[in-house]
Amino acid sequence: MATVDTPLHKVLGGATAKALETSLQLHTVGDLLRHYPRRYAMRGELTKLSDLQKDEHVTVFAQITGITGRRIKPKLHKTDVVVSDGSASMTLTFFNQPWREKQFPLGGKAFFAGKVAKFGSKLQLTNPEVHVVDDEIGVVDAEFAGALLPVYPASGKVSTFTIQRSMKIVLDTLDLADDPLPFVVQHRQQLIGIREALDGIHRPRDLHERDLARARLAFDEALVVQLTMARLRANAAGFPAVSRRPVAGGLLDAFDTRLPFELTAGQRAVGETIAEELAREHPMHRLLQGEVGSGKTVVALRAMLTVVDSGAQAALLAPTEVLAQQHFRSISAMLGPLALRGQLGGAEQATTVTLLTGSMSQQARRKALLEAASGEAGIVVGTHALLQEHVQFADLGFVVVDEQHRFGVEQRDALRAKARDDRRPHVLVMTATPIPRTIAMTVYGDLDVSTLDELPKGRAPITTHVAPVKERPAWRDRVWQRVREEVERGHQVYVVCPRIGGETAKATTPSTEDVDEFVDFEAEFDDGFDDDTDDEADRRPPLAVLDVAPELAEHDLVGLRVEVLHGRLTPDVKDAVMRAFVAGEIDVLVATTVIEVGVDVPNATAMVVLDADRFGISQLHQLRGRVGRGSAESLCLLVTEAPIDALSRERLAALARTSDGFALSELDLQQRREGKVLGSEQHGHTSFKLLSLLKDRDIIERARAEATALVEADATLAEYPELAAEVERFATAAQVEFLEKA
Ligand code: ADP
Ligand code: MG
Repeated sequence: MATVDTPLHKVLGGATAKALETSLQLHTVGDLLRHYPRRYAMRGELTKLSDLQKDEHVTVFAQITGITGRRIKPKLHKTDVVVSDGSASMTLTFFNQPWREKQFPLGGKAFFAGKVAKFGSKLQLTNPEVHVVDDEIGVVDAEFAGALLPVYPASGKVSTFTIQRSMKIVLDTLDLADDPLPFVVQHRQQLIGIREALDGIHRPRDLHERDLARARLAFDEALVVQLTMARLRANAAGFPAVSRRPVAGGLLDAFDTRLPFELTAGQRAVGETIAEELAREHPMHRLLQGEVGSGKTVVALRAMLTVVDSGAQAALLAPTEVLAQQHFRSISAMLGPLALRGQLGGAEQATTVTLLTGSMSQQARRKALLEAASGEAGIVVGTHALLQEHVQFADLGFVVVDEQHRFGVEQRDALRAKARDDRRPHVLVMTATPIPRTIAMTVYGDLDVSTLDELPKGRAPITTHVAPVKERPAWRDRVWQRVREEVERGHQVYVVCPRIGGETAKATTPSTEDVDEFVDFEAEFDDGFDDDTDDEADRRPPLAVLDVAPELAEHDLVGLRVEVLHGRLTPDVKDAVMRAFVAGEIDVLVATTVIEVGVDVPNATAMVVLDADRFGISQLHQLRGRVGRGSAESLCLLVTEAPIDALSRERLAALARTSDGFALSELDLQQRREGKVLGSEQHGHTSFKLLSLLKDRDIIERARAEATALVEADATLAEYPELAAEVERFATAAQVEFLEKA
């Protein structure tokens, strides 16, 4: 009797076990059992020979009645195999496979699959796929009578038929001690038992059986992840934190009266949720996701002020230097006199807002470090530099991470660790890359999720057009004409290129000491779609900022004030350029994706994305979010030379059609492989075999509810050792991935 831990070579023939091990990395009985069929060939798909039609792809099951092999040309050998299934006979032809003659036992039966060809009046399969049913454990016809034939992910060395046969042996000798899924859960969720499920997935009698099996096994996958997350949540929430409450007449009150606009209903609701959680004696762990421009920063700032009012400090972590600088500027501006502690004109309750980035001058940095450590700074805004060991806070009560998807869990934790363990900071992470709720539940499963789904009133819509300059060369002039028109109306324009350019400059790599790890996030060009190779080979290199800017300044946009912004500029220069742009001293900013996140200049009303097909959907959506931030109508032009039938054109058309970030992120996920998207993110959930994060929302939600209940009852899962072991395995695998990444 075999258990899931039994090595395959104890159950199967040595050669088969070895082949499964080397080519499919299946070592144990459990590994094999989790190697699920990719699809099922219906018994009905086994066609009678008398019913074959030319050009059909068929699988036939027939008896071998004759074999002849001969050399028909010096280098061409031909084997004809005549087969019959009682309804008719036909010839299978194999070229240059002389060994076929010995392979087929006369009178034996086999499956053949291929495309039907017609020669004269005779139908024929040429070089069909073959599975001979000849050994003692062979797949017999009767076994599949009225059944589904599982088709497995196979490899060159191991055919789907070998896997089928091995599966049969394993299933027949398997001794499953206990069902890892607690019976109450199984019952409540109306799921079948594990034994039945394994049979049902590997040798279902009909589709219904297969569906029940899939539902059960996919639930198992979801449950293990959700248990891991529930435990993380429970564990984190178990730590003590200091309750932070607003103080009457404090910074928050003063700020609210200064606020030049009304909060949206969503901002108010999320604000209340956060206030409640800050007031608890356990740390908050909340994700705030919201459409680009939905006003997350104000929500975060109000929470920060609550914490400062209560006497502690708040840190805001941003993924790029440009964004950190902008947050610093806009928070300082929004607070006005409230940020001028001890300064002329400073308000009575005022605090200090401090900026800390890795590449500030020694002197500025020393000052910032001191302000953080002494507690003088109520709010510290910074990049990755905030995570460094020597950065200390007097009393860090609250951590905000902006654009969370740019950071890993480890980094979030690194900042959290700057507070004492007996008073963990509250944590709010924000993202403008909205992802469907159930995916959020998995990717950010250790966080509670809030969503801002409305934009502040008075936002003018952004009109997006695709400018296919290959098909319509006239568009090229039209694009720059429109840019001029925007500038003539007193507005400003972004022009985005995929690349920086200036190859020589690239060779000088700045030392890591001086540069924030996240500053140069605009990889030279990264569209993230490796399945979209549209004649990649003969594509010209992507357009570069350093080539496009002078060209525009001298020709198409002559007379306008054109500047560049990209990750290779020094922080001072970047800051100066952004300030000048905010001040309206620059008409056209030619930039890389450094401006992708967070940059907020309401007077910028148009964006031209060059080589737009080279970007991914989410990235374009983020980029487009840089315009339409004021009350003026905005325009986004996606310039592309990609042919009309390219996959990338579908993405561009989708962007022109909708500005709903959730809809776009779903399309994005559909176009990419799910695993790839998630594998590189938060928890590396590469282990899903059946579960689809897009399609199995219902399963994920139910698993989350069960997981929460199980962990609430007993976080150690002592009553369910098998389940606990699986969670342990999963958690370890996820951990290993972190370590490998770090
Ligand atoms: P995001 O969610 O993309 O980070 P921001 O927080 O940068 O959005 O907000 C975008 C702009 O909208 C900012 O200029 C901000 O001041 C403004 N804003 C935020 N909330 C409101 C509101 N309720 N009404 C009007 N404008 C708002
Ligand atoms: Mg933002």
